[in-house]
Amino acid sequence: RHGPPTSHVRTTCGYCGVGCSFDAGLRDGRVVSMVPSDDGPSNHGHACLKGRFGWTYNDAEDRVRRPLLRDGTGWKAVGWEQALDLVARSFSRIKDQAGPDAAAVISSSRGTNEENYLFGKFIRCVMGTNHIDNCARVCHSATVTGMMETLGASAATNSIRDLDAAKLIMVVGANPTESHPVLGAKLLQLARRGLPLIVIDPRRTEVARAATIHLQLKPGTNVALLNGLGHVIAAEGLLNRSFIEQRTEGIDDWLATVKDYPPEVVERLTGVPAEDIRRAARMYAASGASLSVHGLGVTEHRWGSHGVMALVDLALATGNIARPGTGINPLRGQNNVQGASDSGCLPTHFVGYQLLDDPVVAARHHAITGRPLPPRRGMKIPDMWDAALDGRLKGLWIIGYDVAQTDPNLKKVREALSRLEFLVVQDLFVSQTAKFAHLLLPGASFLEKDGTFTNLERRIQRIRKAVEPPDGILPDWQVVCEVSTRMGYPMRYNHPSEIMDEMASLSPMLAGVSYERLDRPQALQWPVPDKQHPGTWLMHGETFARGKGRFVGVEYLPPGEQPSEDYPFVLVTGRLLEHYNCGAQTRRTEIIELVDSDVLEMHPDDAARLGFTAGQLVRLVSARSTAVLPVAPSDRVRRGELFTSFHFPGTDLNSLLSSSADESSKCPEYKVSTVRVEPV
Ligand code: SF4
Repeated sequence: RHGPPTSHVRTTCGYCGVGCSFDAGLRDGRVVSMVPSDDGPSNHGHACLKGRFGWTYNDAEDRVRRPLLRDGTGWKAVGWEQALDLVARSFSRIKDQAGPDAAAVISSSRGTNEENYLFGKFIRCVMGTNHIDNCARVCHSATVTGMMETLGASAATNSIRDLDAAKLIMVVGANPTESHPVLGAKLLQLARRGLPLIVIDPRRTEVARAATIHLQLKPGTNVALLNGLGHVIAAEGLLNRSFIEQRTEGIDDWLATVKDYPPEVVERLTGVPAEDIRRAARMYAASGASLSVHGLGVTEHRWGSHGVMALVDLALATGNIARPGTGINPLRGQNNVQGASDSGCLPTHFVGYQLLDDPVVAARHHAITGRPLPPRRGMKIPDMWDAALDGRLKGLWIIGYDVAQTDPNLKKVREALSRLEFLVVQDLFVSQTAKFAHLLLPGASFLEKDGTFTNLERRIQRIRKAVEPPDGILPDWQVVCEVSTRMGYPMRYNHPSEIMDEMASLSPMLAGVSYERLDRPQALQWPVPDKQHPGTWLMHGETFARGKGRFVGVEYLPPGEQPSEDYPFVLVTGRLLEHYNCGAQTRRTEIIELVDSDVLEMHPDDAARLGFTAGQLVRLVSARSTAVLPVAPSDRVRRGELFTSFHFPGTDLNSLLSSSADESSKCPEYKVSTVRVEPV
């Protein structure tokens, strides 16, 4: 790409929540290389292929470069003035005619904190409602519910550097070698050096192969297994009594629950041998410092928030929390899924997880923004689809999130999108969701703007503008300022640093954050309560955010679907190393030459029984839809179980999935859908 770079700009990877630091190499106004930074606090010179080579989508021919207005079945390019006027006019009309609650925003876990905060400000101050959500709803919202309930804060309790301090690591429902590759490589390295590793996963992933014990449970049985571990810990006197007494409450509730989960009973529910359950429980309780990381294999279940609570219960029972080398550490998926929620893109909380009906929060909001903070909780994403279908929701603004490819229940989602009076989508490319839009606004990529992302260890890191966006594309934060100003609520900032200053003035959690302080390699990990505070690498050290850590005894309940004669297989979905979520970015890079389709992993015995050979196209059939994809016999999955990814829109994989969801967080059950497999 045009020779070696002549200058560099320090930035942060735009893919996963590890948040690797990179030096973008520039030449003649273009990015020509991405080199991982030696002093990057979460990557120390390492990177995966997505961060290192998966950025050339930035120059893709099919980037949306002008606002596009729906014109029959096609599009008509229009100027920015006309487009921004249309957005402002449409939302003003909806508010005047149908009231503030007829509009909503779905913001982006790929956008910056500052952009996410401003979209929240738009919906609260301009429209007057809390109808805002982000894609954490479909990944880690169950973590938020589960950890808030038990600890009072939903983010990682410890830091990536704590992997080195742990004496045992438990990986629960996560495949970090593919989804968080730099962290996954670190885990493999530690395991090879002798660190005990317990992996709880239905698949025999790379990290499971390296584990001391792999608890290969049936999909959807996490709560039973975690309660089984708890049973052994309680029955064998492995509780940390002094920690429980000083730091927790509710132990009796939990003890009464786990009493009913002896290993032999749990073996029948989960398929995990009783002796392995005993061995894992003893190791976790007795290591001296056990740290857990968990992923969507815990949260994306009908009882996902219960799974998170059961995991926290184990840490509280054994004192494996609030110390170095321990804790509960959700592996947040997208680059800024942590930050989007921190920035107030939630229907239930304002920036910094502040409660909407807290009079102190409301007064501060009014004083700084000049508008009241709407007190009533807004709609979560699944509620928005219901509201669009019954006519209550008329206007929707979706930023950098392809709901029409990646949400479950796609038939319903697409029908809801098609019913809206006004849908504006902001994206780099014509996504599946954009096909339903009345107006499509181009977006600026992470290489084309300033701002911050917050990684999975709460580290707020700078991204810096490396190149100009093509054809005068505005960063998302400027778009929202322009629309708000046109709607009579002027938003004027000279630079995203001023937006962060405003966020700091509104949120005690971010009070000490400023760009000046972020402009150093270590950046800052929240909470940062004042300008002298160094940031927080270990949470809950002296006291839990809610005071005492709370045990919550949770019973095992089955997933939403069970295999049947018509649909005998359980399908689990997840990511591949080479691609990223809907694939819009990675499919437009050279990485496509490595993997160019979703494939169906099926146990070799099942493939042989059904007469399928490697690469043969098969049809997956669920009660909702069908999808065709090639089969890949693999012993990574057990008999009767299947695995595939969702990176290619042509597969339309998510249209097959179960409509079950976690009752409290509404996180969908992506991990258990029943299907049958037919020859094509
Ligand atoms: Fe980017 Fe994640 Fe890979 Fe690091 S591990 S380079 S943050 S995708």
